[in-house]
Amino acid sequence: MRTGSEYLASIKNDGRRVFIDGEVVGDVTTHPAFCGATRSIAHLYDIAAAPENREVMTYTTETGTQALRCFQIPRSAAELGERRRAAEKWAESTCGLMGRSPDHVGSFLAGFAAKPALFGSAGDHFAKNVSRFYQYARDNSLYATYAIVPPQIDRSKPAHQQSDPTLYAGVVKERDDGIVLRGAQQLATGAALADYVYLSCIHPLTPGDDAYANGVMIPVNAPGVKIYSRRSFASNATSTFDYPLSSRFDETDALLVLDDVFVPWENVFIYRNRQICWDQWWKAPSHSYGNHQAQTRYATKLRFMLGLTKHINELTGNDALPPVQVQMGEMAAIATIVESMVLAQETQSYIDEDGIAWPSKQALYSVMSLQSQLNPKMVDIVRELSGGSMIMLPSSVHDYENPETAADLERYVSSPNASSRKRVALLKMAWDVIGTEFAGRHQQYEKFYGGASFLVKQNMARAYDFGRAKQLVDNVLALG
Ligand SMILES: Cc1cc2nc3c(=O)[nH]c(=O)nc-3n(C[C@H](O)[C@H](O)[C@H](O)COP(=O)(O)OP(=O)(O)OC[C@H]3O[C@@H](n4cnc5c(N)ncnc54)[C@H](O)[C@@H]3O)c2cc1C
Repeated sequence: MRTGSEYLASIKNDGRRVFIDGEVVGDVTTHPAFCGATRSIAHLYDIAAAPENREVMTYTTETGTQALRCFQIPRSAAELGERRRAAEKWAESTCGLMGRSPDHVGSFLAGFAAKPALFGSAGDHFAKNVSRFYQYARDNSLYATYAIVPPQIDRSKPAHQQSDPTLYAGVVKERDDGIVLRGAQQLATGAALADYVYLSCIHPLTPGDDAYANGVMIPVNAPGVKIYSRRSFASNATSTFDYPLSSRFDETDALLVLDDVFVPWENVFIYRNRQICWDQWWKAPSHSYGNHQAQTRYATKLRFMLGLTKHINELTGNDALPPVQVQMGEMAAIATIVESMVLAQETQSYIDEDGIAWPSKQALYSVMSLQSQLNPKMVDIVRELSGGSMIMLPSSVHDYENPETAADLERYVSSPNASSRKRVALLKMAWDVIGTEFAGRHQQYEKFYGGASFLVKQNMARAYDFGRAKQLVDNVLALG
């Protein structure tokens, strides 16, 4: 099992070209914008490699090796549960704040590998490529991320009618040994930290867009790959005390730019095929497994927010107030709904004709559809219950180093049940969940990580059994 230090060594100075603040980053494992996140990912690998976590984090493959649970292709509700418990163990170590941990796209790869024939309908070699890459990723515990949405340049026109047809990432050349890709794709969260990026498209593509209808695995350090990172929150996190979450869990987001990137045929799953490009998400359990993991991660984050708010109420002495309990009840209800819907994806799962277990799509897309409404509610309650306490905090940890200011802080910024430092640490953590730039990005993430909510609701509409609903009405009509 890959360890954290092996992961760090493998991405260190490996030739990847990550750009930030106008410069190329030499080594992401030591650069202030990325090192905190790489350490958190390394910790995930160490959790999985620890002998005491072997049962929860790994499974035995058909060749007898141990692999991360996210690569397990489930054949029963119980195996979906095993996948979930591994995802939860990892999510707990990041408080659910790293959405694109290696188990996210790892789960998509398992979903693809569950249905190689779907890819093989365009040629056996594509099916073999999917299975081979999956086994390679599984056997080496690889960290893949993805960029599967076209950049927001001019959405009123399809990809091939943009002002330059090579703006959106697509094929520009076919060679005997592979293909060459040029253009950009959004939004490669975690690409700066990962081993591979999966480039494909989840938006429906129109006739004429075949050059953009691909699915390819690209090493992050392949020549021509450019990762344009957004502004770093970790670099601006002046200390772990002041920014306990930004400093550790800023998983980074980026625009992926491909400057004539060569991809050998063996890493091509889909080539110029709009139908398979669409079906890979819905006719293979890829989107379902990836988002079962994502919802497990989200349920963990909500539990973390509840824990934090409970601590704050206890600090302020408001915990026993009935109106505060009502607000806490509302938060707990939201967290429990999300958690229960994760379990419902398993208990209502179904086994397809190939013996593959699919999480219930109704259960999955119902909770995903409501996430962009539920998440702001959670954030708002934390805000409401905290009052001004999160604002009236010492400017930085250095205020505790000056005897004069430290004495005043110990006296005036404290609680009967917590030292000044503990109180301030908790409230700074809360601000990092709801108020900092890291927190703002998270609110955007929860709204969009699974696609814009109008698209998620369309997924729900496709999954829902309207026939059964209409039957109730028809039964009454039949009464005459
Ligand atoms: C922090 C973050 C991390 C992400 N990480 C990744 C990642 O790792 N990999 C990845 O591939 N993607 C990722 N995404 C998701 C992805 O890139 C997109 O943001 C997401 O799919 C939404 O697409 P869009 O941003 O192009 O928004 P748009 O599709 O342009 O939608 C924006 C808004 O416009 C309106 N709108 C647009 N079109 C319509 C329509 N047809 N009907 C009705 N209303 C419409 C809606 O109000 C919609 O919310 C991430 C997103 C965020 C915010």
